[in-house]
Amino acid sequence: MSSAIINGKEIGQEIRKSVAERVEVLKEKGLTPGLAVILVGDNPASKTYVANKQKSCEAIGMFSELIKLPEDISEQALLEQIRELNDRVDIHGILVQLPLPKHINEDAVIATISPEKDVDGFSPVSVGKMMLGQETYLPCTPYGVMKLLEHSGIEIAGKHAVIVGRSHIVGKPMGQLLLQKDATVTYTHSKTPNLPAYTKQADILIAAVGRPNFITKEHIKDGAVVIDVGINRDEHDKLCGDVDFADVDGIASHITPVPGGVGPMTITMLLSNTVQAAEKKLLHDK
Ligand code: NDP
Repeated sequence: MSSAIINGKEIGQEIRKSVAERVEVLKEKGLTPGLAVILVGDNPASKTYVANKQKSCEAIGMFSELIKLPEDISEQALLEQIRELNDRVDIHGILVQLPLPKHINEDAVIATISPEKDVDGFSPVSVGKMMLGQETYLPCTPYGVMKLLEHSGIEIAGKHAVIVGRSHIVGKPMGQLLLQKDATVTYTHSKTPNLPAYTKQADILIAAVGRPNFITKEHIKDGAVVIDVGINRDEHDKLCGDVDFADVDGIASHITPVPGGVGPMTITMLLSNTVQAAEKKLLHDK
């Protein structure tokens, strides 16, 4: 029997509908949620991501502003741009598309975004609050995965979640969010010897590696829930995940496809975080 598909496109659309309703309520009160997206340079993948984010904002009635800056912009000038956005009343969320050119310190840039407008959830303040389980903007990809699990009725408490990958934007926060929902969490990474010995124990396996079709049936326990965060190109330049879908199909109980799994959830949670920022602003100004 085939594995059940966790359909991120459908779940994402359902959540976007409710986010659009929240936008309507805010607009009736005279406030249009606004997202500023900063794009430095001409990276084609970044341009596509940014265009998708803008399109998605507009589709649900939000305001979005793209700020395109040249590849050779100085770090100082970029920080100044962010400070201006921090002060703007029509902008509720600020996103700096990564990666940035090598001469710019990403940490300094992210730390300059006001925590009230850090809708990507990457700043030290947001990460610290997340670690403490305090209310904050959660990083969009792991947050989206949590929503996928929730909407699919997958139990987390007491389950063993194994994360492959420990990046700041996916792997690390993913483990934290699962831990907060009472999973037992194991992190694995490139220095983990005998990876299948760990992944085979997973009730919930999260693949965030960035290597095409890396996770195969030898990594999976019968009945595991497999979440594929990867977005890669295979040898035929076809979009694929970190999981070899055909190989694990029928062994996993549930699986996310690529495309149409985690991907649509990331932008959905960005929209939700930005609307949340606008809602907070309204409450604060009352
Ligand atoms: P990074 O390159 O930052 O991190 C990759 C992680 O995988 C690292 O922790 C690395 O370990 C680990 N790793 C690499 N090789 C192995 C190996 N052989 N065995 C075990 N672990 C290994 O990537 P990201 O976290 O940013 O992204 C991961 C994937 O998710 C990419 O395909 C990316 O495109 C995709 N992505 C998708 C998003 C979405 O919206 N769906 C959003 C963000 C990312 P170490 O730390 O030791 O180097």
